[in-house]
This record gives sequence, structure tokens and C-alpha cells, in this order.
Amino acid sequence: MGGEIHVIGHPLVQHKLSLMRRKETSTSGFRALVAEVSMLLAYEVTRDLPTQPVPIETPLGLTSAPVLDGKKIVLVAILRAGTGILDGKLRILPSARVGHIGLYRDPETLAAVEYYFKVPKVMRDRDAIVLDPMLATGNSAVAAVERLKATGPRSIKFVCLVTCPEGLRHFHARHADVPVYAAAVDSHLDAHGYIVPGLGDAGDRLFGTR
Ligand code: URA
Repeated sequence: MGGEIHVIGHPLVQHKLSLMRRKETSTSGFRALVAEVSMLLAYEVTRDLPTQPVPIETPLGLTSAPVLDGKKIVLVAILRAGTGILDGKLRILPSARVGHIGLYRDPETLAAVEYYFKVPKVMRDRDAIVLDPMLATGNSAVAAVERLKATGPRSIKFVCLVTCPEGLRHFHARHADVPVYAAAVDSHLDAHGYIVPGLGDAGDRLFGTR
């Protein structure tokens, strides 16, 4: 089956994730932590971006220094919780383009149903990073990446905060070529499709809708 999973074990990421898991963490605290962890994950997920040397004039003279090579990255947020990760990513990648994919989980079947899709018109030669805090059943992630692949980006990566073995298996069975970056791989999914121990409903916790 294959498929890469990168678990970001950096102590800052792990500490902040632990604070997010706490059920007492407030909406504002949760939101701030998501933004902070997202920035740290942005650092890891962009580690292999190509650069090219360009001539630069510093106050002391001419040199050659690396800048990012190629077209702007596209950050693709899966609505709605993916927008929580988007803010942190954009602080590190302020010139990135942004796409949105609207999917909801059918509460009976847990299948992903698409209701919105908007990405830059020309995706060819762009690197796409798909964002969703929880890779749980994998249904939304599989559907989002399938839709995105049809637009022809140069590469796709998937970033989440927490995933689980079932979700990863499902995702990589369909998209073995898409690496997943996560802060944690938790124990399992419950009968309602929630990750255990997880952190609850990431959308509700981000937006205070519960
Ligand atoms: N979505 C969430 O927000 N949390 C889970 O645990 C699973 C899916």
C-alpha cells in the first residue's frame, strides 16, 4: 500500500497539541494553539521546496542567494476546520494562493459530500498543500485529493494535526503518492468517526459552535 507519514515530534508541537487536547481549553486558546502549531508544521512541510540562486545586492556588495523556485504554493483548506490551519500557514507563506473545498460528512454513512470547490484556475506546475485538522475516516481527505488531482498540480501534500491508523490506511490505499504530515497518530476511531483520544470536534472547538 505504501504512503509516507511524517509525524512531527518537535517538543513545541507536542506541547501545544497536548494543550489543545484538554477539554477545558477555551475557544480562543484552542484557536491560538492551532495557529501556532500550523506555523510549526508549515516549516516541516516546506522543508524540501526547491530553491534557486539569484543575484542579490546587500548593503555590502553583490552575492548570490537562494529564493524559492517555481510557481506559488497553493494552500487548499477543507471547509470548515481547515481554515483554522490556513491562518498559521499563511503567516509563514504569505504569498501562497488559497483554495477551498467544501465537504460535509453524511452523519449516517460518514461519506464525504462536496458542496464547494474553488482553486486557482491554473494549477499545473503548482505544489498543493491540503489542510484539515483531523484525518479521521479519511473519506473527506480522499475525496478532496481526488478532486484536486483532476486539476493537475505538480505535487500534493496533506497536513493535519491528528490522524489515526484507520484513516491513514484508507487515505494511502487511494493516494499512496500523497505524503501526510501530522502532529500525532492516535489510537483509533470510535463508532461515530471521531479520533480517540483526539481532541474532539476540531471545527466546533475552533469556532465555538458547540
Ligand atoms: N473530525 C473532528 O473534528 N474530530 C474527530 O475526531 C474526527 C473528525
